[in-house]
Amino acid sequence: MKKVLVTGGAGYIGSHTVVALVERGYHPIIVDDLRNSSLIILEGLKKLCGDGFSFLSIDICDKNILFSVFEDHGIQAVIHFAAYKSVGESCVVPLRYYQNNLIGLMNVLEACQTFNVQKFVFSSSCTVYGEPNGRQVFENTPKHLPESPYGFTKWMGEQILEDLHRNTQPFNTLCLRYFNPIGAHPSGLIGELPVGIPNNLLPYITQTAAGIREYLTVFGNDYPTPDGTCIRDYIHVCDVAEAHVCALQHEGYVPLDVFNIGTGKGTSVLEMVETFNVVSGRELPYKLGDRRPGDITEIFANVEKSEAELGWKAQRTVEEALRDAWNWEQQLKQHD
Ligand code: UDP
Repeated sequence: MKKVLVTGGAGYIGSHTVVALVERGYHPIIVDDLRNSSLIILEGLKKLCGDGFSFLSIDICDKNILFSVFEDHGIQAVIHFAAYKSVGESCVVPLRYYQNNLIGLMNVLEACQTFNVQKFVFSSSCTVYGEPNGRQVFENTPKHLPESPYGFTKWMGEQILEDLHRNTQPFNTLCLRYFNPIGAHPSGLIGELPVGIPNNLLPYITQTAAGIREYLTVFGNDYPTPDGTCIRDYIHVCDVAEAHVCALQHEGYVPLDVFNIGTGKGTSVLEMVETFNVVSGRELPYKLGDRRPGDITEIFANVEKSEAELGWKAQRTVEEALRDAWNWEQQLKQHD
């Protein structure tokens, strides 16, 4: 199972996963139409991986072209990242999100069935837990309805996979529920490329430090947490990437399984700002603002199952992730 199809392999988590796969002797075949990425990432991948991967510029919503890729390359395993991912944008253009994320997924699944793929790894998200009753979530914590069309596409993606496995057992499937991936490859050759004004905390912090944004707005400091700001489980993107290698190597007893991909530790927004100041040697300008609608107070992963069954555990600290994110932001400036 050395050839692995990686849809969205030029994206943020996808590109870091490609590097992790090449390091472990796999040959990733990236399919990506670069809608949400750029040649900068492909150039970075080339420097990091040489000829260890292939790249095909295709849109997975075009079923005929997608099927021809499976036909031509003898694909046995698929890691499916390709999807739109902006929570805010998904509320403005929900049809675009449902169309792209769900049709893309269904085309890939149909191809997997047709071409007898053995392993399927799905990019899911902790958004499927919605507002949890507890602060720490386990894989069997009940799911709640998400707040956004984006969240629903992940929620429905998992449902489609459950339904597919109810009566048939087409291929071994793992859903990886990511918490908050941050950081970049330590080389500074690949990282996150937000389109427009970032919604997520980390790119907003690094762009503010780089002078692209005037100041960070901290969304709410009246939450019932020690410093009043929301708490999330931030995880280095290279740790997330390595979880996919473990997922490919996982000999599952059940045909469909779910794993939390987090560190198991929560960090508040203000703690992130303070740590960023320490690693960057700067004083990030920020203002306290109103709560952002739809934000949950606190969520972090229980990772016992991932450790025990996937044999995977996050190795890197939030400090390392912030340092690598800042390094990437500074490298990006050189491309302007
Ligand atoms: N956040 C913030 N200012 C920003 C962006 C995010 O205070 O400009 C906060 C946000 O309210 C949340 C945390 O940072 O508490 C993480 O937000 P992000 O959008 O990165 O992830 P998610 O909300 O999806 O977990």
